[in-house]
Amino acid sequence: MKAAVFEGLERMTVRQVPDPSLPDEASLILKVHACAVCGSDIRIFHHGNPRVTPPQIIGHEVAGEVVEVGKEVTRFKVGDRLATGADVPCGECEWCREGLPNNCAINYAIGYQFPGGLAEYMMLNARTLRFGAVHPIPLALSYDQATLAEPLGCCINGLELAQIKLGDTVVVIGAGPAGCMLMRLARSFGAIRVIGVQRSRARVSAAYTLGGADVVLCSEEVDPVQGVWEATGGRGADVVITANSSPETHQQALRMVRNRGRINLFGGLPQDAPPIALESNLIHYKELLLTGSHGSVPRHHRLALDLLACGVIEPDGYISHTFALDEVLAAFAAAESHEGMKVIVHPHGS
Ligand SMILES: [Zn+2]
Ligand SMILES: [Zn+2]
Repeated sequence: MKAAVFEGLERMTVRQVPDPSLPDEASLILKVHACAVCGSDIRIFHHGNPRVTPPQIIGHEVAGEVVEVGKEVTRFKVGDRLATGADVPCGECEWCREGLPNNCAINYAIGYQFPGGLAEYMMLNARTLRFGAVHPIPLALSYDQATLAEPLGCCINGLELAQIKLGDTVVVIGAGPAGCMLMRLARSFGAIRVIGVQRSRARVSAAYTLGGADVVLCSEEVDPVQGVWEATGGRGADVVITANSSPETHQQALRMVRNRGRINLFGGLPQDAPPIALESNLIHYKELLLTGSHGSVPRHHRLALDLLACGVIEPDGYISHTFALDEVLAAFAAAESHEGMKVIVHPHGS
């Protein structure tokens, strides 16, 4: 089969590799119809990741069709349309057993330790089928649309940890695909006012149209802390979620949140980002609740598919580019340019 193989830092080649085969009767083979490019794929390409040993096929926002299935697999059959999430809990460590599988001590993931979706076919192993996020795609969704369930599942995890209450004013910093999903979904969690903060002008309109924000502050043009302060009548936001990779927004979040407010650091920083100095006295005096969130659990992925299927999150505006597998480097460049929203690769053409 043809696959995009990550060969090492800054190197990815599209070439023939052996077709995946079933290692046992508890696994299956998926024909990949769509694999979306995630910010973390781009970070692996440029900076590597300790969990990815090249040569490896990366890509974890996957949707496809079952073409071969082991005899012991009872949940799926040939012809089923499936979407996958990234994280595959080990199912055995202390965190998995405690019901915190996205904090798994091993943290297996598709496109990391296990070959991913930037290929014509992909094997889903027994552990992935047993503990990972592998779910049937609702009839209402296309393969492209179903890939959105992976990032959306991570957003649900972040929003649960942010503890939004009915009537809250929520600020989301960053209007990329995840930022817009967070803005839109914050309302379902009870927010009555959503304020987007976005650095580049290009994505300000996305915060309005996709995110449904009431107010969007362009942080290149106005001071976002001052802007939130004014928009909330000097009170501050009830909840602030950072959905970007800029350390200074962590600092801004502490300043723009109200007393007893809640902050979720949703977006990770690059692995080599230096530690930042936080004004921890603000956490102390304002009695803040500061949380982080990472990945999602299978329940979030399944719920995300349902939310997309019933239109709580309208999938269409999120997909801005599609590419063939041969054009994978162009797909990565498009995703990195931040000009559009999600970029999808079609391993079998469109
Ligand atoms: Zn992802
Ligand atoms: Zn585990």
